[in-house]
Amino acid sequence: MDADDSPTKKKGQPGLFSAALSGLCPRCGAKTLFAAPARLADECAGCGLDFLGLERGGRFVGVVMMLLALALIMAALGVDEWLRPPPWASLLFWGPVTAGAVIFGLRFYKAMWVYHQYEERAE
Ligand SMILES: [Zn+2]
Repeated sequence: MDADDSPTKKKGQPGLFSAALSGLCPRCGAKTLFAAPARLADECAGCGLDFLGLERGGRFVGVVMMLLALALIMAALGVDEWLRPPPWASLLFWGPVTAGAVIFGLRFYKAMWVYHQYEERAE
């Protein structure tokens, strides 16, 4: 999966997928979007773009997280039913997978929201 091949990609902007993955600023493309793995920086250290101002109104994070948790639980139950792994194996596998999915889900969602807000304001 490579977002850069997408025909809807706008010129001069990084693909959303890679932007979320490496936390790129929507204005200057510097890797300044995230201060922590799943927390937005206050503003861009490169160009001063106000990330917190853009993030305001991103109030669906809770819903996104609930859907993600639900999907993970369903997946965990499915794998349990299918492979019947010992409990310690389940914990060892689903612990990191859940943490990774939540962090990436948050990153992707926040990056998407900031990019969306940035584009709306640019128009
Ligand atoms: Zn910037």
